Amino acid sequence: MNSPLGILVPMQEEVELLVSMVEQPEMMQWSSRSFYKGFLNGKRVVVAQSGIGKVASSFTASLLIQHFRVGAILVTGVAGGISDHIHVGDLAIATQAVQHDMDCFPLFPKYMIPHSGITFYEPDTKLTETLNKAASSFLQYEFQQVVSEDMLSALGIHKPTIHSGLLVSGDQFIGTENQLNEIQKGLPDSLFVEMEGAAVAQVCHDAGVPWCSIRTISDKANAKAHLDFNLFLNQAGKIYTSAVARKFVEML
Ligand code: SAH
Repeated sequence: MNSPLGILVPMQEEVELLVSMVEQPEMMQWSSRSFYKGFLNGKRVVVAQSGIGKVASSFTASLLIQHFRVGAILVTGVAGGISDHIHVGDLAIATQAVQHDMDCFPLFPKYMIPHSGITFYEPDTKLTETLNKAASSFLQYEFQQVVSEDMLSALGIHKPTIHSGLLVSGDQFIGTENQLNEIQKGLPDSLFVEMEGAAVAQVCHDAGVPWCSIRTISDKANAKAHLDFNLFLNQAGKIYTSAVARKFVEML
């Protein structure tokens, strides 16, 4: 890729380790956002904390595109697992992304972005293949070195696996059975939930910039979600996020 890769991560806790890995870093400020321009494994990147939620992350994505002319955007961080077979510590890769809180029915079908005809945004196929390879390589060769046995048992992680499927995003932390059931009823194929990806996907679509997304499952989007989320975020979130992002960049 000739242009730099943009990497967006929502929270401070998740982004700081990745930022510390950027070589020859140049910090640049646009509006209230900080961007770290430099190299990861010799490849040009711009890393930014997107902020939490659809508006914050869309704003950051727009600045990234406008000011840094990134050739593609990776959105990463932690997420809640929705489907039964996905567990805390697993990795989830988006094959499509939808905004679960977009609802202009009866003017437009539920979940469809008005006047776009789009409900499900598609990530770039090649980047997504590379994400799959990076995630496999991370779990196979690096995982045991960077995530300690103590951490695994504290978090109840057994043998992490990689899943691909539907990412659902919205301006809600999904942490009750009611919220979870609502999503599963309306979007039965949902694999994982977070608060930024599908919004960044819309910005990327409108700007003609390819995107892809991988997240680590921090919780199961249920009544225990806030406890699991905080524990995972503080213990393992940043380790997974930075290791997978680095591997991905190396493979581009
Ligand atoms: N406690 C945090 C707020 C976290 S909001 C703070 O004070 O800063 C949850 C963040 O993690 C969002 O960026 C979202 O993308 C992701 N996430 C993880 N689990 C989630 C879930 N169950 N529902 C929605 N978003 C989730």
